[in-house]
Order: sequence, then structure tokens, then C-alpha cells
Amino acid sequence: MSVRETLQAVGNGAVLGTLTLLYPPRCPLCEVPLEEDCSKGLRFVCEGCLSQIQRVMPPWCARCGDPLEEGRDLCVRCAFEKVPFECARSFGLYEGVLARLTQRLKFQKEPALTRELAPLLAQALEQEGLFQCIEGITFVPMSRRSLWARGFNQSQLLAQRLGALVDKPVFATLWKHRETRPQVELSGQERLENLRGAFAPLRPAQCERILLIDDVYTTGATTTECSRALQSAGYPHVYVLTLARAPISSGR
Ligand SMILES: [Zn+2]
Ligand SMILES: [Zn+2]
Repeated sequence: MSVRETLQAVGNGAVLGTLTLLYPPRCPLCEVPLEEDCSKGLRFVCEGCLSQIQRVMPPWCARCGDPLEEGRDLCVRCAFEKVPFECARSFGLYEGVLARLTQRLKFQKEPALTRELAPLLAQALEQEGLFQCIEGITFVPMSRRSLWARGFNQSQLLAQRLGALVDKPVFATLWKHRETRPQVELSGQERLENLRGAFAPLRPAQCERILLIDDVYTTGATTTECSRALQSAGYPHVYVLTLARAPISSGR
């Protein structure tokens, strides 16, 4: 939590006001001064930057959401192989503003950014028709060592904020019981093998239809393995929503 957030949380308005006067908050991407939004409280990114995010646009594979040529329903992979989730969708392309925000969130450890990013997931949930399908929300877990190193799980924070925004329960459903190599170093098939069996259920299913949240979808290896583990926990229908979708070359 930043100094500003702490002061806001403890209700220390006078100190916060002086701090804002001396050091007006600025957008971390373009440096314009940030104005307080009455409905959202303190802002962490400006509207101008958020409006530059490129949405993922159809045509896409009805199952995995990968870009597709017009006139086909499924990509080659989904046509031949049953993925363990109903469908996977993403808010925007992993490039420009969204890539920078996702990297800041994870690598510069700015969890407050999830306040700006979770509403984008809520928007996608509504627009992709997933809201009516799901009863609960869960997230891709991190290994204990990675969690200790970062201090928070960005997918968990996004899921929790999303749950509060759309009024759905959020469940911790899985744990990652072994360390894996960074996916960015690996090819598509290696990514699947790297993660195989790395996730296990924490407890029996809490509902029938669950939404799995992650920050970036690249080859789908993470969401595929997590969906398998969710199915083994007793969730028959898994839906996937990520903030960003990356081509495999940009890694994650
Ligand atoms: Zn900006
Ligand atoms: Zn597909």
C-alpha cells in the first residue's frame, strides 16, 4: 500500500491534502497530473492512457479466443483438441499501455494499479456475455516462493477487486505446489510440459460455473493446466478471463 493509500485508509485527510499539494500525483505512464475522481477516489493512471488500450476484436476462436480468419468458428488447435475450459477471453492486446501497466503491476510491484485494471475486466465480463454464465470467481495461484518474492499475487488482487465490482464470490481454489521455469524462456509445447501437474485443488468445488482470472494469456498453457485442476476439484464449467492477450513471441 502506498503512503497515499495508507493516509486515505486511515482517513488522514489533512496530511493527504498537504501531500497532494506538495507532490501532485501524476500518471506513471504519461506524467500528466491525476485528478481525483469522486466515484473512484484516487486515480493511478489517467483516462487518456486507459483509452489507448487496444481491445481484442473478433473474429476469434469461439473456444480459446485466439485471432481467427473470418468464416471459421474454431482455431486449428481447438478443432482437434478439447480444451478443459468453456471459453477464454481477454480485455486488450498485450502491447502499449496495457503491457506497460501489467509490467508495472508485477515487476515494479504496484498493486494499487489493480484498482484501475479490475474495472476493465468487469467491462469485458459484461461485454463478452460471461457475467450471466458464472457463479463465482477464482484466480491463477503463485508458488509460495514467488508469492514471497513479489509480496502479492496480481491475479488474486484482480479477482478480488472484480468480485467486489460485480458482486460475485471469490474463491481460492488452487495452489501451485512446485516451482516452474519462467514461461517466457519456453516454446508452446515446453510451456505445457513445464506446468503439467503444477496446480492442485485446495478444496472441493464451491459452485458449478467458475471464472478463472489471470493477467496475461499467451499460449493458454497456464489456463489449460489450472482449468484441468479445477475440473478435478469438481468444477464442470470453467470460463477464463484475462486482462491481456499476448502473441507467443512477447512472452509473459
Ligand atoms: Zn497517462
Ligand atoms: Zn481455439
